[in-house]
Amino acid sequence: MSRAAPTTTFARRPGATLAPNAYDDVPYEEKLALWEEVKADPRFPDYLYGCYECGICVAACPSARFYDFSPRKIAQAAAREDVELIFEQMNDDVWNCSQCFSCDRCPRQNSPGGLITILREVAVRHGLASSQEALEGYGRVVYKIMTTGTQVSPDMLQPDAFPDWGPDVKEVSDQLDLWRRALPPETLHTTSTGWEVSEKTLLELYLIWHYSDVMDMIEEVDEGLHMIIMDVMEETLEEAGYEI
Ligand code: SF4
Ligand code: SF4
Repeated sequence: MSRAAPTTTFARRPGATLAPNAYDDVPYEEKLALWEEVKADPRFPDYLYGCYECGICVAACPSARFYDFSPRKIAQAAAREDVELIFEQMNDDVWNCSQCFSCDRCPRQNSPGGLITILREVAVRHGLASSQEALEGYGRVVYKIMTTGTQVSPDMLQPDAFPDWGPDVKEVSDQLDLWRRALPPETLHTTSTGWEVSEKTLLELYLIWHYSDVMDMIEEVDEGLHMIIMDVMEETLEEAGYEI
């Protein structure tokens, strides 16, 4: 059941930051517009009911152990509608979340991870520099997933892509075909995709991405990637008789 978003008396006045930050030169109105877009997301009322500041989400959060990152601070900033801090977090913090949703054990029934999902989506939709930087290294992964409809493929497990895995990754890549054929389900016997995705499913995915704003979001962060994915999608859809 969704409830109304919490109202607050804690919001900072426009431009009244407590301390200078790296985004002081961004007009307050721009930051506010992004925050309004976050609040307008239909999922928002289910992801934030207020915050006890108990820190249970931080204790459960794996990213908080390794980064200067706190789901509690993000939930608090949103509950207080601290537009300046939220903008700072959209740029500097939200990309540290691993989207595991361990924080969903919140006693206030918040979902800090869900809230972060919305913050990220708005950041990507508006092409914030932070989103471009965060996604820079994932172009190959996004291309693979969106053109094949499945996950990172086994043939991407190459020593040059995973140097920190040591000699094991070379051993796996050298024997990849053998390993894959040893797997029981036949749909996993591929090396260029995680598993076989049916043509019907792939077409459905292409149509969803084409008619939703997913492709627009990708264009905002990486025009080159957008172009090559569109080429693959359009050709496949046209061959299947869709006029797009
Ligand atoms: S667990 Fe919930 S109530 Fe507690 S600090 Fe985190 S978001 Fe706030
Ligand atoms: S979803 Fe993000 S914020 Fe929540 S526990 Fe996982 S890493 Fe932490």
